[in-house]
Amino acid sequence: MTKTRFYAIGYDLMTERGICDWTLGTHNKKMSCGTCSFNDKKISLSSHFLRLNSDDVIINTIKHEIAHVLAGQGVGHGVVWKSICRLVGCVPSRLNDIAIMPKGKWLYRCTTCEKEYTFHRKPKRRKGCGVCCENYAGGKFDERFVLELKK
Ligand SMILES: [Zn+2]
Ligand SMILES: [Zn+2]
Repeated sequence: MTKTRFYAIGYDLMTERGICDWTLGTHNKKMSCGTCSFNDKKISLSSHFLRLNSDDVIINTIKHEIAHVLAGQGVGHGVVWKSICRLVGCVPSRLNDIAIMPKGKWLYRCTTCEKEYTFHRKPKRRKGCGVCCENYAGGKFDERFVLELKK
């Protein structure tokens, strides 16, 4: 999706939800698809993310960020935000599971579900498998699902 199209769709969606004082922008982050800054009142999507993903995924992400704006600062991906997602019409989950981002050179794998994760820098702390922690550990980090470095 081009930036122009992202702005057209994004501003339309924001207006639909009565958000008039926020702006849209792009950034060049490789690890974050989208951000929502309450200080600047700005929703930004990664230019890599816009380049690599389908319209459906991008529109879902714009709605995901709009839900953050409506939910307010500091509520994260909790119950309030999730109920607003249903209203706005986006998938109430973190973005990394559905988005395609440039691959990092550090490849890790979950030994439970075999899902692979890549990182641009070697993770400083141990990482858990997002899918397994979500499914079996109530979304919290769990020793059982620590990712292993794949050579
Ligand atoms: Zn989010
Ligand atoms: Zn897993």
